Amino acid sequence: MTDNLALWRFAYVLPNLLACFGMAFVAMLVWRFRKQRGGLLLWLVAVTAVCWAFGEGAGFVGLPPGGILFVWKIGYFGVALTPLVTVLFAIEYVGHGHLLTTRRVLSLSILPVATLLAAWTNEWHGWIWATVKMDMSTPIPTLANTHGPLLWIYAAYCNLLALVTGGFLARRLGELQPPQRRQIYLLIASLALPLVANGLYMMRLVPMRNMDLTPAAFIVVVFVFIRSLQRERMFELAPVTAHEIYRSLEDAVFVVDDADRLQDLNGPAHHLLPPSPMENIGQPLAVLLPQARELLRSAAGEHRGEVALGEHFYDVRVAPLNNADGRFSGRLLVWREITERKRLEAELRRLATTDSLTGLFNRRHFLARGEEEIDRARRYGQPLSLIMVDIDHFKLVNDTLGHEAGDRVLLALAAILTAQSRASDCVGRLGGEEFALLLPQADSAAARQAGLRLLDAVSAARVAIEDGSQLDFSVSAGVTTMQADDLAMRALLRRADDALYQAKREGRNRLVVE
Ligand code: GH3
Ligand code: MG
Ligand code: MG
Repeated sequence: MTDNLALWRFAYVLPNLLACFGMAFVAMLVWRFRKQRGGLLLWLVAVTAVCWAFGEGAGFVGLPPGGILFVWKIGYFGVALTPLVTVLFAIEYVGHGHLLTTRRVLSLSILPVATLLAAWTNEWHGWIWATVKMDMSTPIPTLANTHGPLLWIYAAYCNLLALVTGGFLARRLGELQPPQRRQIYLLIASLALPLVANGLYMMRLVPMRNMDLTPAAFIVVVFVFIRSLQRERMFELAPVTAHEIYRSLEDAVFVVDDADRLQDLNGPAHHLLPPSPMENIGQPLAVLLPQARELLRSAAGEHRGEVALGEHFYDVRVAPLNNADGRFSGRLLVWREITERKRLEAELRRLATTDSLTGLFNRRHFLARGEEEIDRARRYGQPLSLIMVDIDHFKLVNDTLGHEAGDRVLLALAAILTAQSRASDCVGRLGGEEFALLLPQADSAAARQAGLRLLDAVSAARVAIEDGSQLDFSVSAGVTTMQADDLAMRALLRRADDALYQAKREGRNRLVVE
């Protein structure tokens, strides 16, 4: 009989003992992840579960009634707090931690804390244990209780919490990839199993009547947690959903349905839409953002394009979305702002193509443009002329008045060349004080006219220099017109240069047409 008693005692104590040590082990493992999302809460789950299992198990080791009541009260740190911290953990772990404001956590804690306090003061009101007396009818004599009103309320509350959390987890399932879903399934299982065990105990539907089976269910949870921590790398790979990535992107993301109606958008995408008092969801994106119309119209596959919205530029990637059965269900538009890149590109282009003093095209770019104009003129059978301009005795200006004054003269000439040219003309600084003007559609006579006008403008010009005086200057010019066998700028440049040289020889401040 004594042997039997010891055996029974063992049967009552062992599951709780295992749960107690198992959860202590989990707490030890989880401590390392306390800084991770949900880590500290999971640690609290384990620690409170240790209390619960301890209280339950120690109740059967043969303590006197007062002692049993005391360990039950220790156990209530678990009974009252494990469900709460489990729920908080689950919510945080699946990425809804932002919902857990201090206010909400405090509100959720009211009933659990009240339950804990009530357990410790049960002698005065019996809200948790309505009656407490020795029960000699079970295999081992132990203290037994009947549930008080607050305990029933608390149990209902826990079931409600579990239901809400289950809802969170289930919703989360839909957002995850299959491998990540396993963690959520395991979490749901470890939430459900103790809940069922506790329900059976509350209804007294358990074989060992006075034993709360919840800690015994913790044993399974311990294995789930250890497996999740080690095999599934629970915290290293906290389930990040596409949804979170999408929310945290700096790029603007629009999701449209198969008729290109807006279905979803993230924060940055809101800023691209004009402020509207109307709900944008459901509206055709091409109406909300006419600039995107071209992109939406084009090919069904993945493609990209550039879109300008006011002062801003975007690189837009359009990717088709398929639903679970592989059917086309809409498209994803990811807008990456490239305004700065565009600005830098334009700036680089400007630096590479213009002369820093005058802002005119530099030699290389002028020649490149010249080749294009030759091709165009040949293609359309139109004339093309080139005027080469060189400042007379410019060295003298530099030598007598200084380099600064020389620069002013260069700027003055650049301004005159720009003012005298038409939109289709091309003005460049070929080097030093040598400039060139390319005149599409101008034949020899027209080019000569333009050259003479230019010389007149130069003679009329006065350049103010630092000492306050005014300076005259003159230029010589050589004019040439494209001929049938001119295939490149080189030929035109050589003839214009010859003409210019001749103008210099003939006394400067003149124009020679080759
Ligand atoms: P010519 O009438 O025969 O053309 O005589 P010139 O003195 O103008 O010709 P030359 O080629 O001998 O002199 C060109 C001068 O232009 C030499 C150089 O000091 C000056 N020069 C070239 N680039 C610049 C510049 O960016 N700024 C200034 N101030 N002077 C320049
Ligand atoms: Mg000169
Ligand atoms: Mg020169």
